[in-house]
Amino acid sequence: MAIEPTPKPYRPRIPARLAYPLHAVLATNRVYRWLAAFVERQPRLYRWFTAGERITKERLFGCRMCGQCALPATGYACPMTCPKQLRNGPCGGVSADGSCEVDRTLRCVWLTAWDRAESASRGADLDLLQRPVDHRQWTRSSWLNYWQGRDEGLAITFSDADPYPPMRVR
Ligand code: SF4
Repeated sequence: MAIEPTPKPYRPRIPARLAYPLHAVLATNRVYRWLAAFVERQPRLYRWFTAGERITKERLFGCRMCGQCALPATGYACPMTCPKQLRNGPCGGVSADGSCEVDRTLRCVWLTAWDRAESASRGADLDLLQRPVDHRQWTRSSWLNYWQGRDEGLAITFSDADPYPPMRVR
């Protein structure tokens, strides 16, 4: 199996002011839910759909196909391009000039996220808590997961956070 290279902070190719309205177009509705269920029933179609998603999101956001997309809560800067894959803000190694601890030639993706979210008056999104990554979802389609409602609870507020949630057995 090929070893994945260390992710590098990625600067999105579309401005935040365009990404937010684009997401509104893709927001879950009955048609998308039906489409997602239809695609998921057909393995070949699922592979094509996922390949299309990969190509699109890789170019635009540096997507690594974690299958549980955090973009709407991070100013559309992908947290999985952080070399440490931190989903709840930067580590303590960001330098004073904003560069990444792992690669000083690149800007910390969380600073990029902050700038983008702020530019769209969405800075409060970065206060949300992202739940831990479910590694079983890697390479799965995050669009289909989203339309199927599997992203519910992906990002929650501190007040929603239950320090002792009941254990859920899948
Ligand atoms: S699906 Fe995961 S890896 Fe892809 S853009 Fe969203 S958060 Fe990043």
